[in-house]
Parts: sequence; structure tokens; C-alpha cells
Amino acid sequence: HYNFCAGPAALPEAVLERAQDELLDYQGRGLSVMEMSHRSPEFVAIAERAEQDLRDLLSVPDDYRVLFLQGGATMQFAMVPYNLLGQGGTPNYLHTGIWAKKAIAEAEHLGGAHIAASSEANRLTAVPRPDDIDLSDDAAYLHYTANETIGGLAFDYVPKMASPQGGGLPIVCDMSSSILSGPIDVSDYGVIYAGAQKNIGPAGLTVVIVHEDLLGRGRSDMPGLFSYRALAEAGSMINTPPTYAWYLAGLVFQWLKEDVGGLAAMETINRRKADKLYAAIDGSDFYTNPIAPLNRSLMNIPFVLADDGLNQSFLDEAEAVGLLNLKGHRSVGGMRASLYNAVPEKAVDTLIDFMTDFERRRG
Ligand code: PLP
Repeated sequence: HYNFCAGPAALPEAVLERAQDELLDYQGRGLSVMEMSHRSPEFVAIAERAEQDLRDLLSVPDDYRVLFLQGGATMQFAMVPYNLLGQGGTPNYLHTGIWAKKAIAEAEHLGGAHIAASSEANRLTAVPRPDDIDLSDDAAYLHYTANETIGGLAFDYVPKMASPQGGGLPIVCDMSSSILSGPIDVSDYGVIYAGAQKNIGPAGLTVVIVHEDLLGRGRSDMPGLFSYRALAEAGSMINTPPTYAWYLAGLVFQWLKEDVGGLAAMETINRRKADKLYAAIDGSDFYTNPIAPLNRSLMNIPFVLADDGLNQSFLDEAEAVGLLNLKGHRSVGGMRASLYNAVPEKAVDTLIDFMTDFERRRG
């Protein structure tokens, strides 16, 4: 079977097999990773190795801290304004879809947000261009969503901006559905965050990468567990971290380094997978994807059928041949194929063959 779920998503088979081998007895220690104290030398070694492997994969500079947290990307929607607005200013946001909107709503709840640019005018089919971005004079940071998981809309550039007060403006990025899909330059960002359940590992873990200079800007009224500074000082262990998810993420990082050969290699594969599927969609009169070619996501590819009365048959027949979770998000309908790192190229080939056959028979 091939799993095209948008999240929690497919995991590399090699990772699941290794986890299975180690499930009951981790490296002869006589217990499962799930049963270890997070403060034990065994678990601390697992945690440190995972962080180092992630740092290696993304070439994270030394002046950034990497946090392994709970609460999902959704909790970061609140933690970001709490942590970055202690010195005042207005948070600025780019609105590109459903996930950006949820992040904006949380900032508004905490005191207000300025929408510096929006894709609503083009019906969420293209991201704002740099010239469209209109920062507020007191901008404290600029937040954007690198890849809108539901819309299938991705930034083709990093919206780096000068701060209206001088200097660089911290760029905050929700990378939940694109992190580790290819190389990035971490030094472009003030904060990167991602829920793990797409390219990192199982649900229940959230990764935050934050520049040290931003650690002292928290609001005094924020809950202790929200503080990036306190979390960084405690090695993400103020309380019990999601130990098993952290361990599995570590296995995924090892797989990316050793089996795939790093993020440049991963990106080449991801581009090939996505290019094929978009070519199949564009080459047919039956399937459509509305996104501007420059902003088409490599990870989430929504498409609609010319006759949406055939949606259920498409899904049923796809499932019968082992192609799972192709139903589009309930807010947009149609189909969506998520092609995260763990989805093999063979899965995409099989999907395209199925789509071609379905169109021939039913289109
Ligand atoms: N941001 C993006 C881009 C997402 O795709 C998702 C989940 O799919 C979220 C945020 C919310 O993540 P979580 O469920 O980890 O809170």
C-alpha cells in the first residue's frame, strides 16, 4: 500500500523496521525507549544524537537553539507572539491560506496582528511577491507559512525584509509541511517551527529552531512552559518531553543522512516525484490543479476531477489498488496527494497509472 496522507504521514519503511527491532529491548538495555527516563544516560544520548543529526542535515549554525517540544505547530501559533513581543511592536503576517490564517488568529487573540500581504485576492493560488509586502512601522517580526498543506501553495523565496526601524526583521516560518524536503539556509530565519508528523516523525513532537538573540524577548505574562529561553536552558526538558517521538525522529534523521544521502539528494527525488504528477495533471483534460506554477508545492498536490460526482468512485477504486488517503481536505474538496519524503517514487508512478486508467474509463 502507498500512503498519501497529509499528516500524520507515511514514515520510511526502514525506520519502522528498525523501531520494531528495537521496540522491546533497546540495544540490549533490557527495556524499550518508551520506558526509559528522559534523564537517563541512554535517552540523553538518543536525544543528543537526534539534535546533532538534525543540525547536520540543515547545517544549523551554532547560534541557533533546537527545541524538541509538544503541542504541535498550533501551539507555536501562540508561543511565537508570546516569545517575540515582550518588547512591544506589532507582529506582521503573510496570509496565504488556512494555516497562515490560524497563526494570524492566535496573534490577534494576543493583542493584534498586521497582515502585510495576502493571497486572498488571487484566491490563494499564488504567494505575495516581495513588492506586495507592506510592513507596519513597528513590525516586530514577519511570519509566513512556507507550504500551505491544504492549498498546496508554497513560497518560492524567503521573504527576507529589512526592519522599518533598521536592521534585519526576524523572519518566523511555519515549516510544518516542508521542513527536510530540501536544503534551506537557517540563517535567513529568526524562528523555524514544524509539527513533526509529516517529514520528521510521528505526531506528538514539534521542532523549533530559534536564533539565540531572540531568546530574551518574551512577554512577562507567558506561561513558564512557553518560554523558548527556559526550554533552551533546560535542553527541552522542563517537563517530560515526547521521548518516543523524539527517538523516532532521530531514526528518520539517520535515514535521511545515511540512506538518502542528505537534503540535496532528497530534494532531487521530491522534485522528480512532484514534477511527474503535475505533468500528468496538466496533460489531462480531466484533472486540474489551480496553483501558479511558481508556487506549486512539492509536498501536497491538490487536484480536482472534471466531474466531482466521480470523487467517491475515484477514492474507492484508488483504495482498492492500495492508494490510500487521497481525499482532499474537507474545506476544499477534491483530491490531494501528499508526497512527503517517505513516499517512494514508485507510489507516484502507481498513482499516475491509476489516474490515467481512471480517466480513460470514466472521464
Ligand atoms: N501548519 C501547517 C502548515 C500544517 O500543515 C499543520 C498541520 O497539518 C499545522 C500547522 C498544525 O499542526 P499541528 O497539528 O502539529 O498543530
